[in-house]
Amino acid sequence: MDSAKKNKLLIVDDEVDNLDLLHRIFHREYQILKAKNGFEGLEILEQEPDIGVIVSDQRMPMMSGTEFLSQVAEKYPDTLRIILTAHTDIRGLVDAINESKVFKYITKPYQVEELRQVVKQATETYKLLKSRTSKLRDDLENAEAKYQSIFENAVEGIFQTTIDGRYIIANPMLAKIYGYNSAEELINNVTNIAHQIYVSPNRRQEFIDILRTHDTVSNFESQVYRRDGSKIWISENVRAVRDRDRHLIGFEGTVQDITQRKRAEEESQLLQILTLEIGAARDFNAALKVVLSKICQFTGWDYGEAWIPAPDNQSLVCSPAWYSSVEGLEEFRKLSEKISFPCGIGFPGRVWEHQRPEWIWDISLETESHFLRKYPAMECNLRSGLAIPVSADTKVVAIMAFFTMSPNDGDQQLVGLIGAIAMQLGALMRRKRDEEALRIMNEELALARDRALESNRTKSTFVANMSHELRTPLNAIIGYSEMLQEDAALLGIDDFVEDLKKIYQSGKHLLDLINDILDMTKIEASKLEIYYDDFEVENVIWEATTTIQPLLNKNSNLLTIDCEDQIGAIRADLTRVRQILLNILSNACKFTKAGVITMKISRQFLEQEEYFCFTISDTGIGISPENLQKLFHPFSQVDSSTTRQYGGTGLGLAISQRLCQMMGGEIIVQSELGTGSQFTIYLPVNCEIAAKKSSNLKSQLSIDPQSPINGDNEKIAAPSILVIDDDPMVHQYTKAHLQHHGIVIHSAFSGKDGINLAHEVLPSAIVLDVQMPSMSGWEVLKELKSQLLTSSIPIILLTINEDHQYGSYEIGANDYLFKPIDRDRLILTIEKYRSIYFNLIDKIQEYNIHNLPLSVLIIEDDIPVRSMLKRMLEKENCIVFEAQDGQEALEHINTSMPQLILLDLMMPNIDGFEFIHLLRLRYNTPSIPIIIITARDLTDTDYNRLSGSVQKILQKTNFSYGQLLEEIMVRLEKFGVLTARK
Ligand code: ADP
Repeated sequence: MDSAKKNKLLIVDDEVDNLDLLHRIFHREYQILKAKNGFEGLEILEQEPDIGVIVSDQRMPMMSGTEFLSQVAEKYPDTLRIILTAHTDIRGLVDAINESKVFKYITKPYQVEELRQVVKQATETYKLLKSRTSKLRDDLENAEAKYQSIFENAVEGIFQTTIDGRYIIANPMLAKIYGYNSAEELINNVTNIAHQIYVSPNRRQEFIDILRTHDTVSNFESQVYRRDGSKIWISENVRAVRDRDRHLIGFEGTVQDITQRKRAEEESQLLQILTLEIGAARDFNAALKVVLSKICQFTGWDYGEAWIPAPDNQSLVCSPAWYSSVEGLEEFRKLSEKISFPCGIGFPGRVWEHQRPEWIWDISLETESHFLRKYPAMECNLRSGLAIPVSADTKVVAIMAFFTMSPNDGDQQLVGLIGAIAMQLGALMRRKRDEEALRIMNEELALARDRALESNRTKSTFVANMSHELRTPLNAIIGYSEMLQEDAALLGIDDFVEDLKKIYQSGKHLLDLINDILDMTKIEASKLEIYYDDFEVENVIWEATTTIQPLLNKNSNLLTIDCEDQIGAIRADLTRVRQILLNILSNACKFTKAGVITMKISRQFLEQEEYFCFTISDTGIGISPENLQKLFHPFSQVDSSTTRQYGGTGLGLAISQRLCQMMGGEIIVQSELGTGSQFTIYLPVNCEIAAKKSSNLKSQLSIDPQSPINGDNEKIAAPSILVIDDDPMVHQYTKAHLQHHGIVIHSAFSGKDGINLAHEVLPSAIVLDVQMPSMSGWEVLKELKSQLLTSSIPIILLTINEDHQYGSYEIGANDYLFKPIDRDRLILTIEKYRSIYFNLIDKIQEYNIHNLPLSVLIIEDDIPVRSMLKRMLEKENCIVFEAQDGQEALEHINTSMPQLILLDLMMPNIDGFEFIHLLRLRYNTPSIPIIIITARDLTDTDYNRLSGSVQKILQKTNFSYGQLLEEIMVRLEKFGVLTARK
């Protein structure tokens, strides 16, 4: 066996023979090393590594075997030691074995084979142990290397410190975090952690206090100094280190640099606050002020200012927004306010030009041309500055500049932060600016609207006043010239007659123009009101054709009327219908010479609504298609040459169309140049109801105005009447007959029940008996008229008052006469009431009623109008009494009751309205008919006040029940409750 590969065996014996014997026994298997005593043995062990097994004799001079092996055990603990001993030395042997210094002992004389076995066993054991140990050592070394690597390369700082603030262990990362070149440098330099590391030494104390009680602390965040004095944020995870008695002796743990995260958090917090505050700021400069102060507070900078482009965009001027956290910068501020920077010049000027942030690291090193305010800044101890542009839509809207008194190392992060804020600010500024622009625009618009409304009001008032002012003298001119004409004719002064006629006609024409302008103004201002009334269409046609007669004659035209028999009544504004018809007819007369004008009147269903259609055709000059387009536009006369030739305002058709539309109708036109024109007026049978509905009549008509119009005979849905009468027969009759007509009848037998039921069912009309026990019809009437809900319900009054001398009259105003008083109309009206008064309606032909004098009370404060009326009426065989206001009139009525009253509405003291009210109250009977004299401009309220109590009064005694019913039905038709019977 190659001795090098043999296991080494050290044999120690003082006797040479024994040594030889042992040599002989083992030399084949082992590499034998021989020592004659313990000293030699130790020497050999020192020189020869890897001696695994030692066989030593016990009894040796100077150093015994156990002594020798004890030393070996101490120095070479891995060796396996075998001792050869005689029986006599047991004690020392036992000790050696007990101390594990001997693997085995062999007593002499030994059996060779036994010894061989023991040595072999020891050798195997040694080999086993050796391999195990070396593995363990390797493992340990590996683990140590790993730990070291982690320690060296950790991304977190790792440390162990004493309780008094010194580092025992620190890894390179910790040194790096705190700004030291190596861990050693950190350990050597930092001797007082509380003061050298922590920005606030109290924080260190808090840290210690927590660890004293809790043993560990996690995510403990503090601001710390780096070696260069800059501040960073760290987070520590630390465990308390204690001695065996659990006394705190130090700390170990890790440190993380969280400056970035902390900053990001603070930045986002700052941005959030700024977003809110900028959003809430009242204007751009207020927003800038918020930003400047917040940035200064956040960064610890001492002064912030802003520069904004001047309106001409040529230079930057100092914004009123600025911020300073320290005193003593006022002078610097004042100076800044005085200067401005052109683009590219000075600190803000350069930032404006390049649209990039710029630092001034050290003001003292700047040239004055580069930083114009160098010396004033230095005087205030400002050391460095940073300017950043605020842009909105690539346009710089402001430059923010910050200055600090402490030296600065040009914190790029700060630029980043302020840059981010500036961006946010820019966006917000843009929004703010847009909002501001919008607000200003809205304000201007509101102002413009107010002005427009105001000027429109002023215009309307002006036009109304002017019209009034113009009409008053015109009325006198027209009235007097008319009377004078008659006087002149009587006196035979014919020249005068002609001249007076011209004055009269010019006056009338002027008045028409004024009225047109006033009407249009009112329509435009939505102030024109429509007063609904029931009247026979036939009458209005007859009236219009009579009026138009002179115009027809003037141009030698012929008028033919084609009207169905008993065409029926319409509910519309009589004056306005008359006005529309006259306008179209007079146009036809005006633009036709020696031709034919036809007026066809029919009833047609269109869009489930029944209409009266007035078609007026002429064979006149016609209208070109181009002019047809603008025919209904106000103030645009279709053709100025026509106007010059024929006169007119160009308002007539525009007004007529608007009036028609307001009553739920329409006017359409068809015309061919040189052939003639055809105007068709559509007016609903009940304009009042139709006007409230939204109609698409216009689109219907514009599709094909010529198409035959067919429709279903649809009636107005679910009409109902309430009968209030103590007489059961009246109920019986009305029910028996009216239910067939689809009318729902509600019955009340007393006034009180009647009022309650009226509120409950809101009937389309009420039939009310005047004479009832407990509560009279008049009281019921008053109650119904005073309640908002029931005030507009038409009421048909029944009375048995036999001594009622006036026949069936309406309460309230009975007729209207518009100023200027049309003499013919006045006479017609007077005659009407004369015949009613004398109960001669049907017998007009038989009597010369004009011979029966009628007593008339004129209540009018305007003396010229009053005396003119007086003269006119006296000519008509009237006994005229005058009163200048309602008060005087009531006094007069107390002494003498007139047969008719002409009443002006606008008067001092008691006005017309009050007068009617007082009159009806005082006399509590239907009383005397009243004719209102008014300008056309009655308001809706006026009209309601006048017509609110208009009811028909039927005298029960005059009729049998059948007749009474018939009369009720006639009234119901007029109110539109019952569809007109043909
Ligand atoms: P004016 O009061 O000026 O007549 P209108 O509004 O009534 O105003 O009419 C406007 C214009 O329409 C007239 O000036 C005329 O040119 C034209 N016009 C109206 N009716 C007819 C018609 N029947 N024939 C021809 N042209 C007409």
